[in-house]
Amino acid sequence: MSALTELLALENADAFAARHIGPDAAQIAAMLGVVGAASLDDLIAQTVPESIRSNAGLKLPTALSEAAVLRQLRTLAQRNVMKKSLIGLGYHGTITPPVIQRNVLENPGWYTAYTPYQAEISQGRLEAILNFQTMIAELTGLEIANASLLDEATAAAEAVSMAHALHKAGSKVIAVAADVHPQTRAVIATRAWPLGWDLVDFHPGDIEAIAGAKPFAVVLNYPGSTGELRDLSAEIAAAKTAGALAIVCADLLALTILTPPGEMGADVVVGSAQRFGVPMGFGGPHAGYFATKDSFKRSMPGRLVGVSVDAAGRPAMRLALQTREQHIRREKATSNICTAQVLLAVMAGFYAAWHGPEGLKAIAKRVNLQARLLADAARQGGLTLRHDMFFDTLAIEAGAKSGALLQAGLEAGFNFRRIDATGIGIALDETVTRAELETLAGLLGGKLEAAPESIPAALRRGSAFCEAAVFNTHRSEHSMLRYLKRLEDKDVALNRSMIPLGSCTMKLNAAVEMAAITWPEFAEIHPFAPANQTEGFKVLIDELAALLAEVTGFAGVSLQPNSGAQGEYAGLLAIRAFHEARGEGHRNICLIPASAHGTNPASAAMAGYKVVVVACDKLGNVDVPDLEKKIAEHGPNLAALMITYPSTHGVFETSIRDICRAVHEAGGQVYMDGANMNAQVGLTSPANIGADVCHLNLHKTFCIPHGGGGPGVGPIGVAAHLLPHLPNHPLRADAGPATGYGPVAAGPFGSALILPIPYAYIRLMGPEGITRATKAAILNANYIAARLEGAYPILYRGENGRVAHECIVDCRGFGATSGVQVEDIAKRLADYGFHAPTMSWPVAGTLMIEPTESEDKAELDRFCDAMLCIADEIASIEDGAWPREDNPLKNAPHTAAEVMAETWTHPYSREQAAFALPYIAAQKYWPPVKRVDNVYGDRNLVCSCVPLEAYADAAE
Ligand SMILES: *Cc1c(COP(=O)(O)O)cnc(C)c1O
Repeated sequence: MSALTELLALENADAFAARHIGPDAAQIAAMLGVVGAASLDDLIAQTVPESIRSNAGLKLPTALSEAAVLRQLRTLAQRNVMKKSLIGLGYHGTITPPVIQRNVLENPGWYTAYTPYQAEISQGRLEAILNFQTMIAELTGLEIANASLLDEATAAAEAVSMAHALHKAGSKVIAVAADVHPQTRAVIATRAWPLGWDLVDFHPGDIEAIAGAKPFAVVLNYPGSTGELRDLSAEIAAAKTAGALAIVCADLLALTILTPPGEMGADVVVGSAQRFGVPMGFGGPHAGYFATKDSFKRSMPGRLVGVSVDAAGRPAMRLALQTREQHIRREKATSNICTAQVLLAVMAGFYAAWHGPEGLKAIAKRVNLQARLLADAARQGGLTLRHDMFFDTLAIEAGAKSGALLQAGLEAGFNFRRIDATGIGIALDETVTRAELETLAGLLGGKLEAAPESIPAALRRGSAFCEAAVFNTHRSEHSMLRYLKRLEDKDVALNRSMIPLGSCTMKLNAAVEMAAITWPEFAEIHPFAPANQTEGFKVLIDELAALLAEVTGFAGVSLQPNSGAQGEYAGLLAIRAFHEARGEGHRNICLIPASAHGTNPASAAMAGYKVVVVACDKLGNVDVPDLEKKIAEHGPNLAALMITYPSTHGVFETSIRDICRAVHEAGGQVYMDGANMNAQVGLTSPANIGADVCHLNLHKTFCIPHGGGGPGVGPIGVAAHLLPHLPNHPLRADAGPATGYGPVAAGPFGSALILPIPYAYIRLMGPEGITRATKAAILNANYIAARLEGAYPILYRGENGRVAHECIVDCRGFGATSGVQVEDIAKRLADYGFHAPTMSWPVAGTLMIEPTESEDKAELDRFCDAMLCIADEIASIEDGAWPREDNPLKNAPHTAAEVMAETWTHPYSREQAAFALPYIAAQKYWPPVKRVDNVYGDRNLVCSCVPLEAYADAAE
């Protein structure tokens, strides 16, 4: 070996792929033995039908080392220009408290958690979200707030949809105030298009226009987009008189010192929690918020955390009104929201806990005082203000000087907003220093002197908010640090054990992939900063889009959708636009297999389509004769088929190509749900299968952490004929084609800040590594199926008896013999330290297990041992050793207090309860609560932390 060859080999010795993929060569060999396959390639050949394999290999750049990828990202970061952006438009500088940045945003205990469907192992994040909901409801002056939405603009669109669902009189008109943020208006316009709703703009304050429009929804901004502060009471009253819902998009910081819209009668208040400690990040992710009246709670979009009780009668939290999670209602849903922005909502709630109501008010007053001082300086400089009442944003009438003022701002390091030919907007925020304020005053031709009032007396907030103890306790960093740790320790996240969630692909979120998201050159960029300041982002986005195009086989990719469901919606709109452009706008039928994820029919309904369900056969595949029948029935009206591949049952259907061909022959388009992309990467692709468009879940397949229920990114890939019909954005020309249908998200590039994560992943893995990951994912799933099949029937398999990247174990047989239901098994897994697999989806009474490639054999064995031990426990019940109603499964999970209590009345031992397998003692996870009662909590709905604290006080 030459010295240079040797050097190369040594340089590549620590390849990232081997760190990402759990099993090493020896483990793979052992697992193949259990599975009964001669080699990994043999197993793959038995699993993935030859007819759909793409054997060309991915044309991705060769793998980089961890150090090299960080260098690459640094180079990109340095191409972003750091200016202080005072642009406003719903995005503001904010200071992330370091205690929250380090212990939450950069802490896998928080960011690798799953959506809190398994309440008993999610009490920490449920409490954090409850804080968020409490804060939002109180700040907006409304009764109930949800656990977050995607961003302000989509939250406004969700509110409009809710208003339509509640409206009885048949109006199709949405009245939008002219001072609503332009991106919010544009997202509402996109939502309106397929449903035939009309947008009518009205001048702020014009109540006659509201009455004349006879709208079902009225949308207002508070303060207005250019900063104007006015009393909204008259407009809200006019909306109600007209029979519409009054929707107010409000600035959260302003609400700490302004009369909240709820007190003015607003029905819904939405907005962004970005400026509560979450960096701008070139547009996202941030928590959108949604608050409304109690009477509308059953129509609300998104998830809701509520307080209930556990089996011991103690308070415990869980997701409330599960049926209200809209997409479960399928095509009858008014929203498709699934993944939202939990991690960011959690951060915003902690920001409020850290500062408390007094601290928040101090920040707001300071920002307002800065704006007033600057307003006075502008007047000294001979400039006029377009409005004298404002919170933090000035609209300066600069006349002929506006160009020069913008330029002077840039040279001094500031981005201002160009409102129009002569207007300049300046929005202050908590990051602006005294020195910067002086510079700004100088630019406007004045000095910091006087500060005339800018908030009318009637709009000064009189009501209290955030009075609960959690917002008034953690003033020292130690207190906060320990509070965060206390909550974190209640939860099971990936830093504790594998999370075997079918369909949700909980793979490794490597530290190196996460590194760049807190670099200021990415984190502190405003989404509407000038394009010449954001080249680093643009190159990253273009390169990532190209990498994903290669992986999917498609001609182009839009990164704008900020969740998988939003990708479905964006992709279906591309199909709708395509049909309309060809004069086939009458096509309105969307075929969806019965096994589809609930977001599919919900998205189709939002895209204006009529959903026709296609049956599935006994093997879980699309029933091809039924599909052919429905195609024949709807032929000329067929718009699209939505299909998940491999199927939601975890099987590669061999007929997929024929299915796609049949749809195309009838003039329809094929939408592929890419949630199962982890089984395809490098082996086949959506384009190869015959799809026209698909979304990817970058928070499943491409390593963005799940965040406890968000953030996500749901880009869509499209074939060439759909390229002109991708989303675009009114404030950023290069965000999509000029021929596009408008935006589906507030940010031009969606959740841009987290795009370095999938970018790093793909560059680290390289074409061979990423393909090997797919193969390892398939091996891991087949290994689990092989280990469990003696105890649990495996429900679906492909033609050669193999499963794809996940397997469904059937638990329906235990009910008759032992009384054990699938939920008992799920809850019992918590006693073994595991998060349950996906429960009762896509088939009731089953568990869907997806191990991913990142789990090594040792962890898979720990999980399988737990499942087999539970099967033995079920056998003991069947044998009569334990009664059906008193056994380790029915009583699961077991808390420490219970196992350690003086009295123990159960027929099994305490050790069996808590330490059923030897490995458990080495790192015991103690569930903090017993099984949570869902019914009680829905009958007695409580969605704020105030009553919870009252209980704790009473217990003391
Ligand atoms: C996760 C998932 C979705 C929805 O994705 P979100 O990012 O949660 O909106 C859609 N379809 C399937 C099959 C999924 O697993």
